[in-house]
Amino acid sequence: MVAIYARQSIDKKDSISIDTQIELCKRQLPDGTPCVVYPDKGYSGSNINRPEFQRLLEDVKAGKIDRIITYRLDRISRSVLDFANLVDLFNKHGVSFNSTQEQFDTGTPIGRAMLTIVMTFAQLERETIQIRIRDNYYARGEKGMYLGGPAPFGFRKTEIRTEQGRLKLLEPNPDTVETLVRIFRMYGEDMMSLCGIAKQFNSESVWAPKGNHWDSSKVSRILRNPAAAQSSAELYHYYRNRGIRFTNDIADFAFGKGCYLYGKRNSNQRKYTDVSGHTLSLAPHDGVIPAELFLKCQERLDGNQQIDNRKRSQITWLTGLIKCGKCEHAAIPKSSNFGRYHNIYCSGKVSYNCCDVEGNLGRLDTVENAVRDRIFLWAERYSALRSENAAVNTQERNRLSCRMEELDDSIHRLIDMAAESGEITSRYLDEKVSQLEKERCGLEEELNHMQEGRQEAIAKEVQDIETTWDSLDIVGKNRIAELLISRILLFHDHMDIEWKYRFDLG
Ligand SMILES: [Zn+2]
Repeated sequence: MVAIYARQSIDKKDSISIDTQIELCKRQLPDGTPCVVYPDKGYSGSNINRPEFQRLLEDVKAGKIDRIITYRLDRISRSVLDFANLVDLFNKHGVSFNSTQEQFDTGTPIGRAMLTIVMTFAQLERETIQIRIRDNYYARGEKGMYLGGPAPFGFRKTEIRTEQGRLKLLEPNPDTVETLVRIFRMYGEDMMSLCGIAKQFNSESVWAPKGNHWDSSKVSRILRNPAAAQSSAELYHYYRNRGIRFTNDIADFAFGKGCYLYGKRNSNQRKYTDVSGHTLSLAPHDGVIPAELFLKCQERLDGNQQIDNRKRSQITWLTGLIKCGKCEHAAIPKSSNFGRYHNIYCSGKVSYNCCDVEGNLGRLDTVENAVRDRIFLWAERYSALRSENAAVNTQERNRLSCRMEELDDSIHRLIDMAAESGEITSRYLDEKVSQLEKERCGLEEELNHMQEGRQEAIAKEVQDIETTWDSLDIVGKNRIAELLISRILLFHDHMDIEWKYRFDLG
């Protein structure tokens, strides 16, 4: 019996489909020749743990097969070792083997030798690229830049030894990785809402990050993190369209590696919503979510965001800022008394059932007025204080930013060099990069501290705020509030405003 084997990894849209592969194979046979098809959809060729392939091997061993046809050699396996063993097995059972694209006759010794050579070069090419990825990672990753803070949900940190020393990386956390995959499926395939997923997990008592309850922002943060994704060319394009910088070439994205997305520190980023100017690096670990599913989720999230912003901004300019003081979940206004006014409720209590705060958190208009008055007061003090030390700051700030740009340039040049150079040189370059990055971090901190550029912007915004406030619409007020305030914690009888820029009130 003739066997046709076809395989396609899920995450490559440009690769040739299973049906086409089968069609091409059938053309090798005289019309009407009986054959059995073994299609593996969504499996990589890096190992032979594929259901249909295993079935094929069983049939080979049972002597049912005398010929195997495949579209290309790499459909069978991408590993030379596996491949060599397979060719041996095929020979032992008198199975001949050919592909539609490569002309080899495995019935002859020279044909088998040619096969092995071709496969060896293919594997060598893949490994070279992977080493380059690792080097790139290594040059910057060692300083904990990517692995700073806790491991992303679904992963844990581990360390492996390489020729270049120890390499820190992520691996799936057996306790949580199933939940991680489930989240992506529920959102990207079952089209559940963020809230719905959170509710379901809470009702099942699924372990949540930080051990607390699930809510929509936890779910969305997990969905946004590309550490779980399997890199692909499409993934690269998705992020490129969002103004991301890369430390790897697009060609390196073909191997399903997880990604690190990291931004400027202190950048007031909210849940990855604005990623422009951030950097994406391929990680040394394998992703667990197919790129296609990951991107489907991103697109759904992107859509949500727009709807969200439009909807909420019509009710209050405090949107996104007010939180329940008890559980720190978002506080949300709901209309009361037939729409005559709004009361503010804790979403932790209303939507997720995880907060026991009593009643509501106050009337919206009362809270709005109170916050407005605090903003006025803040602006007044701010202007007075600023005029005193503005001049000194500007000069120093310019000096620091120049030095930082120089460092940035040097670091990037060194990393490029390291990727191209041999082991000893690249180790030396790594050290150099570490030094420079240390200095750069110091400067960045200093600069953030001064924040003169931001001060400039704030000063402009809050000038005459008391006279202009009433003429602003909800969006305008929200912009000012977001510029000044990190969040507002609401309690029954008072509120705590956390300002973004604190100064000594004297
Ligand atoms: Zn609450």
